[in-house]
Amino acid sequence: MVEIKNLKKVYKIKGKSDLSAVNDVTFTLPDKGMVFIVGKSGSGKSTLLNLIGGLDSPTSGEIIIDGNIISKFKQQELTNYRSSHISFIFQDYHILESLTVKQNIGVSLDLSNEDNEDLIANTLQKVDLSLYGDRYPDELSGGQKQRVAIARALVKGAKIVLCDEPTGNLDKKTTIQVLDLLKKISQESLVVIVSHSILDANNYADRIIELSDGCIVRDRERRKNYSNEFKIENNIINIPHYNDLTTNELI
Ligand code: ADP
Ligand code: MG
Repeated sequence: MVEIKNLKKVYKIKGKSDLSAVNDVTFTLPDKGMVFIVGKSGSGKSTLLNLIGGLDSPTSGEIIIDGNIISKFKQQELTNYRSSHISFIFQDYHILESLTVKQNIGVSLDLSNEDNEDLIANTLQKVDLSLYGDRYPDELSGGQKQRVAIARALVKGAKIVLCDEPTGNLDKKTTIQVLDLLKKISQESLVVIVSHSILDANNYADRIIELSDGCIVRDRERRKNYSNEFKIENNIINIPHYNDLTTNELI
């Protein structure tokens, strides 16, 4: 479980008043499932995601993951924790251009170990890249590169997969492939996706947290056993069958 308590991130900018990118945010995330964080550009989504993953440190407040107060960890502890528990997926892939697909996926594994070779082969199959193991990133499409990044998270067995606009550079068809894959992963792990697409959120999310000016303005959880139909009325997207956790109302 991820517990976020009164989390704040204030940026001090020379000659300007302080900017609260994340402003006293409190919520809890479960061990599994797909959570979307949505909101306009500049609403604090990336800052919040980076804080959850320990890429950035909060000004105040706490982040507790499975009982570990990671916001109090020293740098080395945090690096160790991150490398064993958390994977990041970024809009621009962040895979290593000088390594092949296989090498990228196995970057943290001992490749002379045969079991690891099998693990990589299985994972390549899961992300539908079996024929691409020996290619270099500049020989891949955007969607394929993103699937390499996802495969890296799978090999690591990351409990938490944090994604910042993972489909931001992808076309519709590839977006569906990537989100389908992440949805599968969310059956076993917690997948948090920062996105500005309320439609993708509606199609895939078990929970949608909406940010505005660094604050949570809405936190909705999909009710079990409901389809994801939605209506557009007066240009407003009406998503049925969600519980509003901020007001405890059913919508
Ligand atoms: P989002 O991901 O929702 O677009 P961000 O989390 O990137 O939003 O940014 C939230 C706010 O914090 C914005 O106003 C942004 O300009 C500001 N911000 C983000 N990073 C920094 C930084 N390193 N220094 C100063 N301000 C920053
Ligand atoms: Mg962002």
